Amino acid sequence: MSRGDMAKPLLGHRNTEGDPSIMPAAGRTIGVLGSGDFARSLAIRLVCSGFKVVVGSRNPKRKAGLFPSAAEVTFQAEAVKKTDVIFVAVFREHYSTLCDLADVLAGKILVDVSNNTKINHHKESNAEYLASLFPACTVVKGFNVVSAWTLQSGARDGNKQVLICSNNQEAKRTVAEIAQAMGFTPVDMGCMSSACEIENIPLRLLPAWKIPIFLALGLFLCFFTYNLVRQVIHPYIREQKNKFYKIPIEVVNTTLPCVAYVMLSLVYLPGVLAACSQLYYGTKYRRFPDWLDQWLQHRKQIGLLSFFCAALHAVYSLCLPMRRSHRYQLIETAVKQAVEKKMNIWVEEEVWRMEIYISVGIIALGLLSLLAITSLPSIANSLNWREFSFIQSTLGFIALVISTLHTLTYGWSRAFDENQYKFYLPPTYTLTLLVPCTVILAKVVFSLPCVQQRLLRIRRGWEKGRYVKFVLPSATGEYSSGETSSNV
Ligand code: NAP
Repeated sequence: MSRGDMAKPLLGHRNTEGDPSIMPAAGRTIGVLGSGDFARSLAIRLVCSGFKVVVGSRNPKRKAGLFPSAAEVTFQAEAVKKTDVIFVAVFREHYSTLCDLADVLAGKILVDVSNNTKINHHKESNAEYLASLFPACTVVKGFNVVSAWTLQSGARDGNKQVLICSNNQEAKRTVAEIAQAMGFTPVDMGCMSSACEIENIPLRLLPAWKIPIFLALGLFLCFFTYNLVRQVIHPYIREQKNKFYKIPIEVVNTTLPCVAYVMLSLVYLPGVLAACSQLYYGTKYRRFPDWLDQWLQHRKQIGLLSFFCAALHAVYSLCLPMRRSHRYQLIETAVKQAVEKKMNIWVEEEVWRMEIYISVGIIALGLLSLLAITSLPSIANSLNWREFSFIQSTLGFIALVISTLHTLTYGWSRAFDENQYKFYLPPTYTLTLLVPCTVILAKVVFSLPCVQQRLLRIRRGWEKGRYVKFVLPSATGEYSSGETSSNV
């Protein structure tokens, strides 16, 4: 990042007049203990946001050149004396080396920015440990979820949220004001007992993606093995033909659409199961089983992985004619036809099948891209609930129907050709149709007026077998009340 970029204030020329949360913070002096990567990025960002910064180092002479000239770099004790709010940009294992500063630190706010290397690494959080070493200080946990890079690039690029917790409300408010003045969004995580949870956040590796990724890998493995047996092992055993060259591209390319298609249907299947459960029990107030809850929560990731596989399938398909094997096969076919003196090789049905197959495939991929883009938080936040549900639910379902057409035009009449049953195994596309067709069928049933009405009533709070109070207008226009079963 250029120095010019860093000089730009994060808040630009935003008018902060009358915004009490910003004005009192900017302009005050902030202390930073430590002169490492985080301390340096923090100091730069603080200076750019209008704060005076004093850095406390064990070796200020050596480190001063690393900081912007507007920041004062001095000895730790000197720095601490000049400010009431001090960011401790030092690793936990070195906290004890700061104990000599206990007297000068007394009564001040210490911001613990530290992270661990393992989840739940220590019994007590780093912030609680710091508080135990400096009982006369007020410790606030914060800024640890922001990387040094994010601090430098500003809130424009990286994560904007700064999670904050402390047992002291006033200290927490002060740190929140500083975060806001730096262009971040402070999030109050409550008292100091939340520090452990906040420290674990940067260590988690894609927690919401684990199940969908395992699901996609599992499906990929199953379909890959199935296709390998049909396309490579079968010709090798039955006809002694070497088709192993098909493994890197052809087998992978027949596996990817299977995974994409089944994953897309798995986005809509839990909704169908939830609706079935609501219809069966006649209420929306009964909790779904945990596995269904989990499944419903992972639909976005499952959908994105489906899009990823579909996009890879498109790229692989475009590359098919580039292969040497493809060229050899084309020439071989041409030579055969020349020898057999075949002039007209045009098969009308095949031409139409291919045109429709490719066209619906492109439309399905286009719709999947739209679903993927609108699931991004920044785009989703700009849509109202109706727009979001129209895209994700209605267009998503249309994408599933079009993908089904894509699959059917690919298979065409192959399911009825006995040569296609290798080792008695049906063509892969017939297997992939099972779940999506069940979902489509269920959606058709749910759209029947009698079922739709009942589902709508349940979702508006109606319950089977529950007696509800009703109020009816009488002939005279007055209202009379009574009780009835909501079943009626
Ligand atoms: P670093 O580059 O290694 O800097 C640590 C600094 O601690 C040193 O420059 C040193 O400054 C100071 N220090 C004070 N007493 C020390 C001692 N006894 N031994 C060694 N160093 C001592 O580490 P960092 O990446 O800036 O990280 C600092 C803290 O920020 C850590 O707690 C880390 O978990 C947290 N954090 C870092 C990032 C990041 O992206 N880097 C993100 C979030 C949180 P002096 O020599 O000038 O005293």
